[in-house]
Amino acid sequence: MATMTLPADILQPTDTKPCRFCGDGLQQTFVDLGMSPLCETYPSAVELNRGETYYPLHVYVCTKCFLVQLGEYESPESIFNDYPYFSSYSDSWLKHCENYCGAMVERLGLGQKSRVVEVASNDGYLLQYFVQRGVPVLGIEPAANVAKVAIEKGVPTLVSFFGAQLARKLVAEGESADLVLGNNVLAQVPDLNDFVEGLKILLRPKGVLTLEFPHLLRLIERNEFDTIYHEHFSYFSMLTTARILEAHGLCAFDVEELPTHGGSLRVYAHHSEDNTHAIQPNVQRVIAEEERAGLDSVDGYHRFARQVRQTKFALLSFLLTAARGGKSVAGYGAPGKSATLLHYCGIGTDLIEYTVDRSPHKQGRFLPGTHIPIHHPSRISETKPDYVIILPWNLKDEIMTQLQFIREWGGRFVVPIPEVTIY
Ligand SMILES: [Zn+2]
Repeated sequence: MATMTLPADILQPTDTKPCRFCGDGLQQTFVDLGMSPLCETYPSAVELNRGETYYPLHVYVCTKCFLVQLGEYESPESIFNDYPYFSSYSDSWLKHCENYCGAMVERLGLGQKSRVVEVASNDGYLLQYFVQRGVPVLGIEPAANVAKVAIEKGVPTLVSFFGAQLARKLVAEGESADLVLGNNVLAQVPDLNDFVEGLKILLRPKGVLTLEFPHLLRLIERNEFDTIYHEHFSYFSMLTTARILEAHGLCAFDVEELPTHGGSLRVYAHHSEDNTHAIQPNVQRVIAEEERAGLDSVDGYHRFARQVRQTKFALLSFLLTAARGGKSVAGYGAPGKSATLLHYCGIGTDLIEYTVDRSPHKQGRFLPGTHIPIHHPSRISETKPDYVIILPWNLKDEIMTQLQFIREWGGRFVVPIPEVTIY
């Protein structure tokens, strides 16, 4: 019998990608979540028949700088062209932004002569609070449909991707900033070095940069593997962030730990040569905590993949028991993270009949990959499910308060992360 031999390069992929920050070859797996469709593309009923493109959701950790990252599989234009996410829909997130605005105006003494620039300003969800206080702003947002909403509510917004080239152009036009901010954008930047270089260029000599991003330490500790998706290219520790800023002539002088997005950091930076702001002990405290968790060596990253598998088994076990017992399960929310969770666990309409979302842009559409339909929230009171699984678990308290009425028919809440918990 003839045997077939395959060329070696088919059996063993040798296409090592370079680290987005330091350029070292990526070989060490952090977690491999298999193949998955883009999580922010919600297909319509017609599009369900056209098939979907799947991309690897394989996350690496760079053994040199410890930046945790995905390879880049899809062009940013394709991801952000008609981005359906509108920040303004979560009450607690808006409150968080308003508080931030008040704190910054006070801490930096911002007024009518100041300038605040936000990169990836979405629908003006945050800058609107600076506008209300009479502080001049500029938003930079790549998704035209989202930027339009911001402009309509009085937040000047430039439709563009951000990088060193745009920053140079803006500075040449006299547009620099006392406060440059980037909330939940750093993870989504394919060319990290070019982006941080742009932030440096845009910042006035005594200006302050603030960056908010989910904290890798909490992602690992709290098992938040569903926050890994194709739109998030990188996952940051304070340790690695400080190195990245330093490489671009910036210095982290303070950091706050925030409860948002399952545990985030807000890092404050200024130019390396600026000594207006004393370096706060918080910076070293967070770095020391990361070192204690082992994030300064490859070994510290190993346990995560095991933990993720255990969560999959536990969630499937709960849903299978519910299904066998004739219980109905509906979802609440259709955040990007729900696509990773449900797709990786192999959960379709056989186990979760439907989900609901407050955003009219998602209603009538389907979750990518699993094709679970997304309805208006009123569907829950119409169908009275036995369990409501809260997919944006970071908003669980807010959602459980809103949906207290499910108790009337004995309904219970299920929160899947960090571990399956029934309320
Ligand atoms: Zn690296």
